[in-house]
Amino acid sequence: MLQNLSRIVAQDKNFLGIINGRRVAATNGKTIPVVCPSDGLEFATVPSYDAIDVDRAVDAARQAFEEGPWSRMPAFERGRLLTRLGLLIEKHGDELAALEARDTGKPIRQGKADVAATIRYYEFYGGAADKIHGDTIPFLDGYTALTLREPHGVVAGITPWNYPMQIMARVVGAALAMGNTLVIKPAEDASLSTIRIGELAIEAGFPDGVLNIITGYGSEAGAALSAHPGVDYVTFTGSPATGTAIQQAAAAHNRGVTMELGGKSPQIVFADADIEKAFPVLVNAIIQNGGQTCSAGSRILIERPIYDKVADALGSRFRELVAGPHDADLDLGPMINAAQKRRVENYVTAAAEAGIEVIARGSIHIDAPLTGFYVAPVLFGAVDPSATLAQEEVFGPVLSLFAFEDEADAIRMANGTEYGLVAGVWTKDGARQHRVAKRVRAGQVYVNAYGAGGGVELPFGGFKRSGHGREKGFEALYDMSATKTIVFRHD
Ligand code: NAP
Ligand code: MG
Repeated sequence: MLQNLSRIVAQDKNFLGIINGRRVAATNGKTIPVVCPSDGLEFATVPSYDAIDVDRAVDAARQAFEEGPWSRMPAFERGRLLTRLGLLIEKHGDELAALEARDTGKPIRQGKADVAATIRYYEFYGGAADKIHGDTIPFLDGYTALTLREPHGVVAGITPWNYPMQIMARVVGAALAMGNTLVIKPAEDASLSTIRIGELAIEAGFPDGVLNIITGYGSEAGAALSAHPGVDYVTFTGSPATGTAIQQAAAAHNRGVTMELGGKSPQIVFADADIEKAFPVLVNAIIQNGGQTCSAGSRILIERPIYDKVADALGSRFRELVAGPHDADLDLGPMINAAQKRRVENYVTAAAEAGIEVIARGSIHIDAPLTGFYVAPVLFGAVDPSATLAQEEVFGPVLSLFAFEDEADAIRMANGTEYGLVAGVWTKDGARQHRVAKRVRAGQVYVNAYGAGGGVELPFGGFKRSGHGREKGFEALYDMSATKTIVFRHD
């Protein structure tokens, strides 16, 4: 029997967005049902904002930027507010973990891990806010030249449903530390933690209009926000297709964007690798969050002499994996919604029908509600590098194995997709570690590790079709600001 943990989110309720420091319903009065992916049942609602409310939110952010205390507040005070928000998140950690797990279906331990990473973001950017310096530049005789890092102004953040709280934190942390104001639009499928943290930001004392939360459909609220003439910069995490639409809207206003568009990330396992050490990391990199992770390690490239051994071991593990409700805290939860479940199942069916070897399948817990959006994990073997399964982001618990002949072959295969977000390299050979890490086209490369447990300090972002711009770490502060050069003549 599945153990039903006591619900920490005691009351089902209608959540509200936040505009100009106030919790408000949509002007049109409409709401969107909030569904728990574990049982497919509605348990709350969020406002379905449209262009009218987006206008109000962008105006509030503009006013807070131009006239409010925000633009004149010393950096250390902005940092202090972010730190205070992190402390409030810590205080409400159990509630937030439970809310995130219920809203997205992720196992409760992942909800807790997300809270821990979220706190680190506010801690990191709270501390970083007053540590970004400009330069003085040697110039002509009789001149002094210097640079300042200045905020863009009003930033729009459009975030996805897979890690809502963490992705919100990396946007809010970097944007507000640099003195921008924000309008955030979370995904319609997972808005609750964003709203709740917006409420905590009011409690922390952020001035009105600095952090506005607009819920609603991507095609309505999202499109209105990304096309709004009052926005100065856009940061987006999600699918390449939506990224293109948002960049087209940004192009119409010639404004900057940061794009984080997912990946098809490889882990390269050489014959001399420490397999014992690699094994749990290889499995976790695709099972965490049900594979709905932009940096999921969805391709494992294995050197031919150890291919069968590694494939057998992974097969045994995959047969043990069980999907179930978030509060049962099994290996993985459900997919976010019915469409995502179908999408993943379609990839699996098409690959099996195309003759790709199914090495193993996991299972769905016998007591998991039939109305939930569960998919059993699948391990495919001997995949052709040109197959659809090898090229496209599935965003589900589906792992593909490939055999390679030598280092050059491994690098060619690792770089053989349109994506370039993250890569893992497993080998004890030090020279090879350096060679491969340098030749793999990916924004982050891990050697004898993968994912590095949150790593809020580590710059993150894509090469190639995985996107451009960098989030996390100090680099994000550069993306969230522009350099102003000031030249004094004093001869
Ligand atoms: P998506 O459309 O890219 O959604 C991401 C965000 O963009 C959501 O907030 C969404 O709002 C919003 N959005 C959608 N259409 C928009 C528009 N025209 N203008 C402005 N904003 C818009 O992703 P999805 O459809 O939920 O998922 C589809 C696939 O994308 C997944 O299967 C996966 O492969 C990939 N994905 C990748 C990541 C990642 O971390 N890189 C994250 C999520 C999904 P609504 O959700 O309210 O429509
Ligand atoms: Mg939901």
